[in-house]
Amino acid sequence: MGKDQTVLFHSSVFGPIHSRRLGTSLGINLMPDDGKVCSFDCLYCEAGYNAQGGGTTGLPTREGVAAQLEAKLADMAAKGENLDVITFSGNGEPTLHPDFDGVVDDTLRLRDRYFPQAKVSVLTNSTRIGDERVARTLDRVDNNILKLDSAVEATMRALDRPVSKEFTVERVVEQLKRFSGTGIIQTMILRGEHDGKTVDNTTPEEIEALVKAYKEIKPREVMIYSIDRSTPEEKLQKVGREELETIADKVREAGIAVQVN
Ligand code: SF4
Repeated sequence: MGKDQTVLFHSSVFGPIHSRRLGTSLGINLMPDDGKVCSFDCLYCEAGYNAQGGGTTGLPTREGVAAQLEAKLADMAAKGENLDVITFSGNGEPTLHPDFDGVVDDTLRLRDRYFPQAKVSVLTNSTRIGDERVARTLDRVDNNILKLDSAVEATMRALDRPVSKEFTVERVVEQLKRFSGTGIIQTMILRGEHDGKTVDNTTPEEIEALVKAYKEIKPREVMIYSIDRSTPEEKLQKVGREELETIADKVREAGIAVQVN
């Protein structure tokens, strides 16, 4: 798809999607149905670049999300379907929604009513974890999955392109320590080129810096993965399973649980 790639999700609740890794999952998109809103602008974002704009629908309301979710869960329960996980992801960063905490509360309540065995996961880019209300909300979900793509400032800036200049590796690593033992750190591993400059977080220096950061944060687990779908920057290369496993071994040697996706 490349540069013209645009948002993937055209509703607040999407799925269910069946995958071998996650089982049956429902997604919640707290961003617009026809645009993208994010505090990062990652070169690999499956929803495309921020330059496509925020769309016209605005953010969904807390009540609207709860109504869509309840309708979907009630329907799945009536049909005797199974549900393994409800995941907040979608067209941007879920923690930017002003009612993120309320939506999570509603989701946990509806999960308990319809599918009490299902897990609730949030995929966040970690930009808002310094906000106490956001951090406390993330503490309440089953899988708090936090992005840390590089522990080298220049690489993080080139790859994730944070909107705020105040967002730094040093600050986020410090903030991520709050989730020691509970948070899951997710790292996208790739190499390629953007605007004529190399972007590569697979070098020995990069992996060493990541392992050092993981050791400071002490997450419950680290998840490493590479590109799965087409990316807005077309000159990015997927890193193969074997190489990801070699990187994972280095993380394991540091005494940190890791999975390769
Ligand atoms: S943080 Fe996620 S949604 Fe935001 S630009 Fe990066 S990949 Fe896309």
